[in-house]
Order: sequence, then structure tokens, then C-alpha cells
Amino acid sequence: MPNRDFAQQRHRLVRELRKLGVRADAVLRAMATVPRELFVPDEYQADAYRNSALPIGSGQTISQPLIVAQMAEALLLEPTDRVLEVGAGSGYMAAILSQIVREVYTIERLPDLAEAAAERLWKLNYANVCVRQGDGTLGWPERAPFDGVVVSAGGPQVPQALMDQLCVGGRLVIPLGETESVQELTRLIRRNAAIFDREDLGAVRFVPLVTGAP
Ligand code: SAH
Repeated sequence: MPNRDFAQQRHRLVRELRKLGVRADAVLRAMATVPRELFVPDEYQADAYRNSALPIGSGQTISQPLIVAQMAEALLLEPTDRVLEVGAGSGYMAAILSQIVREVYTIERLPDLAEAAAERLWKLNYANVCVRQGDGTLGWPERAPFDGVVVSAGGPQVPQALMDQLCVGGRLVIPLGETESVQELTRLIRRNAAIFDREDLGAVRFVPLVTGAP
């Protein structure tokens, strides 16, 4: 029974993530329920529960499970939160977030990926996720402000619109770096209208955050 097998692999991955230091129960619970094998191309299904990034087409990747878990944990989420993701890709991170918070908004720049993610999330019944195609560095002003903003692609600086669209007390997690080879996972917490506390959470490697139309 392939599905039972995937469920076992999923639980094994969750145990691995716990050993690697992921602590947040809500995050581990979400990782134990979302079927990652349905977010990767068919030819990679057998690899879906390896702790590694995998190609999803259009030169993009579904992030490594450990990174997904660390980013979700770094967002310090509450069940009532509304979260914005930039870089929907396969929709996997959005699905994980949807199990933890009330509403998830995710933006993908590439039309093919945006459409596939929206269809997949709809079919799998992740009803509290909205997907939009567009340039996520502009945020989603009609739905702002957000308690959490997570950028699933790396760039040299924090887009101003994303800072503006964060609630006071809100958390923004983004891989920051000048090069494509390595970035620093960074968390900003908004203290008030003008002040953001900033922390470095460790080195990561992401596909680039690209601005403008595809
Ligand atoms: N969170 C995704 C990982 C996607 S990889 C997952 O779980 O599968 C990062 C994605 O960010 C890519 O699909 C890329 O096309 C997208 N991206 C890059 N720059 C962007 C931008 N400015 N706005 C929206 N999406 C962007």
C-alpha cells in the first residue's frame, strides 16, 4: 500500500527533524500530516521524504523539509495568525502553514507554478490558503497587515512593502544575502511603526528572489 508507506516515511522524517532540533509541536504536527509526495513531480515521489530540496520545474525547487520546519518555527506562529508567503513554488510551505494558522496568503511569480500550486492546494482541501500570481516583493496590500511574513527565496535586502505590511508584533523571516550561493536566514520582529528587531538564525541556501514580471 503506497499511501501507508508514505505515511511511515513521513513519520520517520518528523523524528529526524526533531533530532535535528525542531521543537515547535504545531510545526512537527503539520509536517506529520501534509503529504509532501503530492507536492513534487511524479518522478521524485520516492524521494519526497528525504531531507532535501527537489526540483519542481521552471528551474525552481521545493525547499528542504528541515528549512521549511525552521522557517515555520522562526515565525513564532499562533493559531489565530494571518500569514503571507512570498514564493509559493509547489505550495508545500503554504500547506504546512495552513495547518498552524488561520489564513495563509501566498504569491508566486511564475504563472505555471502559481496555477499548479493553486490547483493542488484546492484539490487537497487546504481551504484557508489563497494563491496569487505576481511579484511578491510588493506584498498583498489588500490583505495586509500580516502577523507573519515568510520569504521562500533569497535576496540582498528586505523588500520595503513586506516590512510595511507587517503588524506591530509581527515576524518576518527571509534569507538575506548578496550571493546566490549562501544567505543568512534573518528574522525581523516589528516593535512599533518604525522599529524592527533583527536576528540572524543561520546560513541557508535559496533560489533567488526575483523582482518584476516573469
Ligand atoms: N515555498 C516553496 C519553495 C519555492 S522556491 C515550496 O514549498 O515549494 C521559491 C519560489 O519563489 C520559486 O517558485 C520562485 O519562482 C518564487 N519567487 C522568486 N521571486 C519571487 C517574487 N518576487 N515573487 C513571488 N515569487 C517569487
